[in-house]
Amino acid sequence: MKQDGSVPLLDLRRQYASIKDEIDQAIRRVVESQGFIGGPEVSALESEIADLCGTRHAVGCASGSEAILLALMALGVGRGDEVICPAYTFFSTAGSIARLGAVPVFADIDPVTYNITPESARAAARRCRRLAAIMPVHLFGRTADTDAFVRLGTELGVPVIEDAAQAIGSLDERGRPAGSCGAVGCFSFYPSKNLGGYGDGGMVTTSDAELADRLRVLRNHGARRKYDNDLVGLNSRLDALQAAVLRVKLRHLDRWTRARQANARHYDRAFSAAGAVSTATPLGSRGLWLRYPSAPGTQESHIYNQYVIRVPARVRDALRDHLREHRVGTEIYYPVPLHLQPCFASLGYRRGDLPHSESAANETFALPIFPELTTEQLDHVAATIIQFLEKTVEIGVLVGSAVRTNPSQTGR
Ligand SMILES: *Cc1c(COP(=O)(O)O)cnc(C)c1O
Repeated sequence: MKQDGSVPLLDLRRQYASIKDEIDQAIRRVVESQGFIGGPEVSALESEIADLCGTRHAVGCASGSEAILLALMALGVGRGDEVICPAYTFFSTAGSIARLGAVPVFADIDPVTYNITPESARAAARRCRRLAAIMPVHLFGRTADTDAFVRLGTELGVPVIEDAAQAIGSLDERGRPAGSCGAVGCFSFYPSKNLGGYGDGGMVTTSDAELADRLRVLRNHGARRKYDNDLVGLNSRLDALQAAVLRVKLRHLDRWTRARQANARHYDRAFSAAGAVSTATPLGSRGLWLRYPSAPGTQESHIYNQYVIRVPARVRDALRDHLREHRVGTEIYYPVPLHLQPCFASLGYRRGDLPHSESAANETFALPIFPELTTEQLDHVAATIIQFLEKTVEIGVLVGSAVRTNPSQTGR
């Protein structure tokens, strides 16, 4: 609990306090060198991220959005080309596609994992005439079914671009790191990501040497040597100050990930004990919870960039208000699915076209999950939610697949 009893959605000050000396030294090192663009910190971070992701190369750039943009450019995706991506994700996934003049083709998600499925991507592919790439997102830190996507990409003859912005260090069911399975993986170092810088930053991972070379050229105006422009690129470099900060934080990432996973288990246990958890899907109108069911016996590792819960749409605002009254911060990721965004109106999607994305947008929200949360804070969040459930009489609690009526509801 903070002094004032609040539990913010994210509090990065506590993390800085715990590594202040290391960070301050790293920043001072760069400032004293007066080398701010490229240089040893950037190349060292690139090899460390490549190691973490199990790829041969990693190319730093200015943000996660530009990691996606550069990946698309390096793969030759251009005006009028179609790229399959989820409708339920951060705007940047589709925004980066559209920014190139390419067309995002929205696929629906799985209602349990919130990731697009190979089946929905296949259905989207049938609507395409110029399919150029498939871009699954490892949403909230849990990997999409990368194996199946790579097979689908091979079958359709297009590359797979992993939007791994929220998934640094997560493992798929076969234990392979996010960003190592597709042609390229795109990462973001936005401060709220699990590995966040002190400003914007991004990285593209690949094991393809030719692609890595093109990415390096493209991020620097398309010039291999100064004033020797082979391609039209952009200025999208990762700066040395960010790289130095990120290298310090990378040394702690494993421990922070384990803390997030332990926090998630703490919530899971508290909600299970209160009979408030359902792994049943779809929720229907009476369900209260949907947690991520673990995938037993696999090597999957979910890194919990967000811990997202799900309630019927009609109680979401009331529950968030209740949490706010008890000084718990929450956030909706994402309230409007991308196929219904005004900027994509010309693509002609209608409400009802991608029902799982639309209900996720209406029913989910994220709880505080950052590594430095105390047990007291976790208990406060869980108890506040359980208290709400117990007094919300119109809702039965789903236990497994059976609906148990809340005792206070009987006789109504
Ligand atoms: C954060 C994020 C991005 C973009 O990263 P920025 O560094 O903010 O540009 C892209 N896709 C997803 C899924 C993200 O969460």
